[in-house]
Amino acid sequence: MKNILITGGAGFVGSHLAEKLLKDGNRIFVVDSLITGSEENINHLKTDRNFSFFRHDIVEPFYLDEKIDQVYNLACPASPVHYQKNAIRTIKTNTVGVINMLGFARAKNATILQASTSEVYGDPEVSPQSEEYRGNVNPIGPRACYDEGKRCAETLFFDYKRMHGMSIKVVRIFNTYGSRMAEGDGRVVSNFILQALKGESITMYGDGSQTRSFCFVSDLVVALEKMMNTDKIVTGPINLGNPHEITVKELAERIIKMTGSKSKIEFRKLPEDDPMQRRPDITKAKNILGWEPKIELEEGLEQTIKYFKARL
Ligand code: NAD
Ligand code: UDP
Repeated sequence: MKNILITGGAGFVGSHLAEKLLKDGNRIFVVDSLITGSEENINHLKTDRNFSFFRHDIVEPFYLDEKIDQVYNLACPASPVHYQKNAIRTIKTNTVGVINMLGFARAKNATILQASTSEVYGDPEVSPQSEEYRGNVNPIGPRACYDEGKRCAETLFFDYKRMHGMSIKVVRIFNTYGSRMAEGDGRVVSNFILQALKGESITMYGDGSQTRSFCFVSDLVVALEKMMNTDKIVTGPINLGNPHEITVKELAERIIKMTGSKSKIEFRKLPEDDPMQRRPDITKAKNILGWEPKIELEEGLEQTIKYFKARL
């Protein structure tokens, strides 16, 4: 049994991770400000005596008496709508917040894993994106609070390792979807499914020719746990995602078909700096973690549609 702290553990990915690690027999501490997450995501875990929840913003230092073996740092709004709403808060979470959690992990002599993102590659000029690619990020655009914030977080992780010999892990997560994505947080899979189920127009930004590669959340949490438990020498960054690439238009058409919806596609302006393509090279994840995603898009979408249908 390990004592594991998860920041952002009341969010979409964090709550699935907390559930899995608890099921595996660990003691779980979730730290979350609930800025985009919800207690609804973790209420079913609260009855377990090995689960504790702390409502706390990581921009403020966090203290705990218990011994902690591992820290997963997932705290940060992930949807473009939310991370841009309070851009300065997003940067603080990824800098001051990250420093606080690195300091916490150092004091506990714990391994700490950072949930970085494919956004560190910006609007990539190469595809697929491997970890060696240094990216094409606009440092002054509306997405920079997140992209540059996450890049700075990676820098901090490696500086804490160089200066203090800490055990660190950095994973770059590509678009992930599944149950517990917040309704109305603006991400494409939840938006399209909800619009299709309600018979509303499907809001397509741009002409829909931009691509993404979608990973189902149960696949991702397996990889997060594998990465955390690698030898100290393994630091990453390692890409985690599903290399199956599709256009946003294809995604809309597939969701309309799967839901049997009468919704029509409505074209809107493409947001500034919206990346045109995104596909992970997961060679490292395969070789180092022995991991690759198992859930096909069709199956993952089916489960996600079922979840949102039940909520409606
Ligand atoms: P989410 O918004 O559902 O979860 C983030 C959680 O962090 C929420 O519960 C939120 O309340 C909490 N949080 C935010 N700022 C905080 C702060 N300052 N202090 C404490 N808690 C705070 O998003 P998610 O999709 O679950 O993403 C989890 C992590 O994975 C994020 O760091 C995100 O950047 C990263 N990531 C996710 C994806 C994806 O497709 N889901 C892709 C790349 C990276
Ligand atoms: N998108 C869209 N309609 C929506 C929401 C998103 O066309 O209602 C597009 C968005 O412009 C982007 C892609 O879908 O090209 C993925 O968007 P999301 O916000 O899910 O994540 P991103 O990969 O941009 O961080």
